[in-house]
Amino acid sequence: MEYSGPSELYVDGEWTDAVSGETLQTFDPATETEYATVALAGEEDVRRAVDAASRAAERGSEWTELDPAERGAALRRMADAIEERKDEISLVESHDNGKTPFEAGMEVQMVIDTFRYFAGWTDKLTGEHNPVPGDRLNYTTREPLGVTGHIVPWNYPFQLAGRSLAPALACGNTAVVKPSSQTPLSALYYGLAAEEAGLPDGVVNVIPGSGSEAGAALAEHDDVAHVAFTGSTEIGKRVMADAAQNVTGVTLELGGKGPHLVFPEADLGAAAKGIHYGIFMNAGQMCWAGSRLLVHEDVADELVERVVEGAESTPLGSGIDDDGRMGPVVSEDQREQILDYIQTGVDEGATVACGGGVPEDKESGYFVEPTVLTDVTNDMTVAREEIFGPVLSVIEFSDEEEAIELANDSPYGLLSGIWTEQLSRAHRVADALDYGMVSVNEYPVTFPQTPFGGTKESGSGREQGLEAVREYTQTKNVNVKLD
Ligand code: NAP
Repeated sequence: MEYSGPSELYVDGEWTDAVSGETLQTFDPATETEYATVALAGEEDVRRAVDAASRAAERGSEWTELDPAERGAALRRMADAIEERKDEISLVESHDNGKTPFEAGMEVQMVIDTFRYFAGWTDKLTGEHNPVPGDRLNYTTREPLGVTGHIVPWNYPFQLAGRSLAPALACGNTAVVKPSSQTPLSALYYGLAAEEAGLPDGVVNVIPGSGSEAGAALAEHDDVAHVAFTGSTEIGKRVMADAAQNVTGVTLELGGKGPHLVFPEADLGAAAKGIHYGIFMNAGQMCWAGSRLLVHEDVADELVERVVEGAESTPLGSGIDDDGRMGPVVSEDQREQILDYIQTGVDEGATVACGGGVPEDKESGYFVEPTVLTDVTNDMTVAREEIFGPVLSVIEFSDEEEAIELANDSPYGLLSGIWTEQLSRAHRVADALDYGMVSVNEYPVTFPQTPFGGTKESGSGREQGLEAVREYTQTKNVNVKLD
């Protein structure tokens, strides 16, 4: 399919070239051929977009004057506009990122659900009455922050932009979205949806641009009140430092090294399926990937056999014109990095139980075989660093305490999984895990209404649910002396 979607920046309600006239070419990871050319925002475009978003957020503007229920209706219209184009956006995402259209469709559906969920919040942003001494009325209100910046990675380009955009708009803010220059296309559809939903000019601005230039300019801009950053821990730290120059708040959704803890009484069939999904979906390019399998020694052989069987029977392909269930990774660089990690694992003593290389039957595309590494110990590089590819590291344990220690012995703390049929063990272990999210007998799973985020180097702040409403509003306290 030739790309026929939006290819300019969306700033102040208009489609426009970059001030510099620069453009960016994207490549289809399944065919390694050019797919689209889009305008490439620079610092001047960031300034234009933030200026537009600032005007739209001013007191008395059309956006700030909307009744809360009208703002909710606008979000619902955005959800409808996205739903109308669900198949188109899914296919574009597939060509831009490499994931299968089926996986991309799940991403788009999550965005539709997220917009509809947050549309329901617009008229529920209530404050509180505070019982203070004396003859006073003291209360709080929840107010928008102003301009919010959204810096988005390439692994779930559409969903991760929508995850923070929807609550930011629901809370009455305006937004500048900068997708990754590796996958700039799907985010531009937020411009189309905003137009079709009749949002006032400047409320939503979308500016594909490089991280080092446009991303940094957005994080540093002193008119930006909050930066929602999703990406690597390394860049997240830099964004936090840049934003700190202006005391700008940040939500950081960063990397992970998720453990599955599989106990001997677990339903191994269900666990094998969850483990497969948790590491091979999106070719393993997931912050919340379950990339460490911590399994009790009594069931390790049987479970690994099941997981290997699933990995070896997964058809690789784009899923566009074949029956592929796992697509290529996003780029040649990403593939090289993953293959290097596998080699490092082997050098440090791991055994390749399946996969480990590039599939022989693929003439093009950045494919990596679904890979399972056994004989891994928790101090090896493949157990400590985020590989961001379809590589599972298997580590055995002999009792519950050891499993918890191994799980928590990680710089990351995003999603962890427990597989057990013992109710008390499920709750005891969930309590002991130092992770932002714990999933029992299912992996991975999240919903617009549940908080998403991590501890330690996995981030700070939470997206989704009530937590996001707090993230994108600020509290004002009003004290009234009554006589
Ligand atoms: P990345 O390299 O950190 O990039 C993320 C975003 O930041 C991109 O838009 C990038 O732009 C931009 N950027 C790069 N340098 C910047 C700078 N100096 N200032 C401001 N922005 C800058 O991450 P990635 O490789 O795209 O994504 C993979 C990472 O994201 C993994 O670590 C993964 O775990 C994490 N992730 C976390 C979550 C979560 O919810 N916790 C979800 C998904 C992914 P360019 O791409 O144009 O350079």
